[in-house]
Amino acid sequence: MNLVGIGYDVHRFIEERPLILGGVEIPHTHGLDGHSDADVLAHAIADAVLGAIGERDIGHHFPNTDESIRGISSLEILRKIAMLLGQRGAKLVNVDATLIAEQPKIGPHVGEMRANLAEALGLPMTRVGVKATTNEGMGFLGRREGIAAMAVASVEQPETA
Ligand code: MG
Repeated sequence: MNLVGIGYDVHRFIEERPLILGGVEIPHTHGLDGHSDADVLAHAIADAVLGAIGERDIGHHFPNTDESIRGISSLEILRKIAMLLGQRGAKLVNVDATLIAEQPKIGPHVGEMRANLAEALGLPMTRVGVKATTNEGMGFLGRREGIAAMAVASVEQPETA
């Protein structure tokens, strides 16, 4: 059967931290705050994949109280979730995500993000969508307080699983 999942995440900008999106370090005045590398794009995708197989969210599987995963690469989180998917007898079909940020410019990095995410998820790059938009200057995203991401995932699972 075909399953779908949805994911949303947001992280706050802070100074003196690298900005990691889709596993790419993007030169910027601010990075994102978080227990892991704060890769908001990878986190939204992680929750979409977990949701598709009826699992609890990324915060449950990778709690911010776990010191052993402080600063962990979120691509590593995606690799672990892809393994969990395999253990459930499920197969990821595709993921699609949108970043919402006023800055920095995402476009020049989309190719590398898709390649990183595809590798971590065991998907061809054509099955990994990464898009970006601004929030038209409105609200907390418009005030450049952080970056948000939303994602969907499609999973194929045998009826028996
Ligand atoms: Mg997060």
